[in-house]
Amino acid sequence: TIAMAAIDNMGHIAVGTSTNGATFKIPGRVGDGPITGSSAYADDEIGACGATGDGDIMMRFLPCYQVVESMRLGMEPKIAAKDAISRIARKFPDFVGAVFAINKNGVHAGACHGWTFQYSVRSPEMNDVEVFTVQP
Ligand code: ASP
Repeated sequence: TIAMAAIDNMGHIAVGTSTNGATFKIPGRVGDGPITGSSAYADDEIGACGATGDGDIMMRFLPCYQVVESMRLGMEPKIAAKDAISRIARKFPDFVGAVFAINKNGVHAGACHGWTFQYSVRSPEMNDVEVFTVQP
């Protein structure tokens, strides 16, 4: 899955996902990509989250909705991301997946399980895209 969040200069926050679906591609499958709250979620008042990984497992937990709601309750993006991943890992220790979280102030973080995860960020004050690597 490619998940992306964008914050415009009015503070509007949007997310989108695109999945190649190749890993689990069977006829008729609906993966986590189009499930709101699973592979992406955003709220202008709070921030956004995007996910990638074992969609059939992750969609049972709506991890991106979880991340945004945790941030709403005051969790920093890093803690919210780790919490959402650990909720899944507790039930499915072998799952592979990751989330990124960004709050409305642009503070961002990632968390992952079963692999090393990379996400990239570009903001107006940056000259180029920066890639962040997250260890499980
Ligand atoms: N989440 C995707 C899926 O299960 C896989 C991916 O991350 O590319 O379809």
